[in-house]
Amino acid sequence: MAKGQGKVASAKSGIVARLPRACQDEQAAVEFFESERWGVTGPCCPHCGDTNVYQMKDRKTGERNKRFLWRCKGCNKQFTVRVNSVYEDSPIPMRQWAYAFWAASASKKGISAKQIQRETGVTYKTAWRMFKQIRTLTTQSAVSICKPTWTNLPSDLIAEDRAPEECSSTDSSSSR
Ligand SMILES: [Zn+2]
Repeated sequence: MAKGQGKVASAKSGIVARLPRACQDEQAAVEFFESERWGVTGPCCPHCGDTNVYQMKDRKTGERNKRFLWRCKGCNKQFTVRVNSVYEDSPIPMRQWAYAFWAASASKKGISAKQIQRETGVTYKTAWRMFKQIRTLTTQSAVSICKPTWTNLPSDLIAEDRAPEECSSTDSSSSR
């Protein structure tokens, strides 16, 4: 009797099925991206590659640190799942990224920047940037010690879309 579940296109390896949950709260989203990134290797420090890492917890509540930080025992640096990924400099909550990926995967025609804007409430400029980054992830591999697995998404999930004029001059797409 579950309603509304039927629309998701027969999934790319179960990722799509897990995304709706990840859209619901930030911790679920972060943990989704963590498992996508580190599910095979286990958590891994993006600074030095050490796997001797642990989640930082709030001392009072015992919950995960509000920024979902990890610490590496090898180099003693902190990191999150965003470090060394296209999300690194993004202020956008991970659950909105989760939504954008879900929409990109669930729609036969792919996703457009306009759709991201409409559904998440971000500005068109932000939506456009997310759109571009999703497309980047689906077409080339991100450089990282612990490589994210989003590169497995086929590029045809992403619809064509045009950059807003106001963005074309100001948008500094990082090509590191
Ligand atoms: Zn390290």
